[in-house]
Amino acid sequence: MTSRRSKPHTSEVENVVSDQKGSLTWGRTGVASVFLNIQCISIVFFSPMLVLLLHVAIFQFGGSISDTVRVFFIDMSRNFLHEYLSSPWKFLSWTVVKYFVVWVLFQAFLYMFVPGRIANGAPTPAGHILKYRVNGFQCWLVTMITAITAVKLGWIDATIIADNWSGLLICANLYGFALTLFCYFKALLFPSHPEDRKFSGYTLYDIHMGVELNPRIGEMFDFKLFHNGRPGIVGWSFINLSFAFAQPELSNSMILVNILQAIYSIDYLCNEEWYLKTIDIAHDHFGFYLAWGDSVWLPFMYTLQAQWLSKNPVHLTTLEMFLILALGVSGYIIFRVSNNQKDEFRKKNGNVELFGKPAKYIEAEYQTSDGKIHKSKLLVSGFWGLSRHFNYLGDLMLSLSYCLPCGFSSPIPYFYIAFMVVLLVHRCFRDETRCYGKYGKDWIRYCNTVPYRIIPYIF
Ligand code: NDP
Repeated sequence: MTSRRSKPHTSEVENVVSDQKGSLTWGRTGVASVFLNIQCISIVFFSPMLVLLLHVAIFQFGGSISDTVRVFFIDMSRNFLHEYLSSPWKFLSWTVVKYFVVWVLFQAFLYMFVPGRIANGAPTPAGHILKYRVNGFQCWLVTMITAITAVKLGWIDATIIADNWSGLLICANLYGFALTLFCYFKALLFPSHPEDRKFSGYTLYDIHMGVELNPRIGEMFDFKLFHNGRPGIVGWSFINLSFAFAQPELSNSMILVNILQAIYSIDYLCNEEWYLKTIDIAHDHFGFYLAWGDSVWLPFMYTLQAQWLSKNPVHLTTLEMFLILALGVSGYIIFRVSNNQKDEFRKKNGNVELFGKPAKYIEAEYQTSDGKIHKSKLLVSGFWGLSRHFNYLGDLMLSLSYCLPCGFSSPIPYFYIAFMVVLLVHRCFRDETRCYGKYGKDWIRYCNTVPYRIIPYIF
């Protein structure tokens, strides 16, 4: 990441777009290639393997990556891994399947019936403005009350998730793959909004990146908002809690990880309306990337720290606790304030004050596929004047603060920050391509006004 590379010029943005054979695309690219297909097959194959590898490393090899890799790739005859791959059913009982099904159905029930505000999503490329019931925090609260009651009455143990983790990994994978295929065939046979579908001409690419933008059942059951927010983000805090209860003696590092990650997940659920305007909901289509990602990657990879600490407790000094908390809270403040600035700015059509001064912006135009021209504004002051994705910097600081409580004896807990760097940097480029496709020359004016991508003066 050099400062030279991070200053985009007109030609640089145009190069990104010319990779798509000159077609300006708004939304997911409609152009794929053999290379992209190979990339998709690799992701579909290697992502579940990676989740399994880290799972085995934590629970069978004391967090040793080298031992796990040796057994994984060289000595396939060794116990757990061999058993897992050759007879996964051994780890799966009807009881675990029942827990998983009850969990998903309970979340679906809450999503549909717990009262919440009805909010509008961003206009889709075909010009639809979809309605969403935003009741995330209420659903989290009902889930928490139900879980506490169930534990108090002795119906379940607080460690129920941790105790059945291997079986749940299989259930989640089966669910994630089934959901991916269901959504692909739904897109072909009974799409919710046919004009917002994208076909690339390559089946595998379409299965991976999704065809439908906003698959739904009926008017209100939105697959994307449900799967990311409910089993995914709601599940995150409950998984962490279960691993905290599974620790023989609760450590202060486990408490810190639980607090920092709960701040993030509860923040998401309280600000669900804001989430409707983010790339995940507004632009990404629903394929393996989101369906399997929300079902498996999010619950199993975002909770690596709590899983790891349940087996390898770390006791932090007061100073270490304070420094990590300070990093996490500063990251959260940057994340929340920058996201709020853009949200308020867009809601009030630019009539807001940021840090005591009227917001500055660039007027931009775009066209929907029905031929209509729309006007939009791109904010260039407040945190959005420092870099084009200052909100990602906050997220990265917060992500690092989740990993540090685990100490430095293993790289496994740091997988999360490495993943977030790759995810958010890649997302930056993806967003730039999309926004250039949407706003054209106005986007270039914006890039010239705010030249840095994430970290001012560096990248
Ligand atoms: P942004 O919230 O930055 O949204 C980008 C979109 O906002 C653009 O596509 C464009 O959409 C609009 N936009 C871009 N620049 C401006 C501007 N200057 N003024 C007004 N609107 C602008 O990105 P994400 O949706 O990726 O991220 C949202 C948050 O979620 C971030 O804080 C990120 O860190 C977090 N996140 C966390 C993840 C995790 O797994 N933990 C994963 C992904 C995101 P339009 O078409 O409306 O103009």
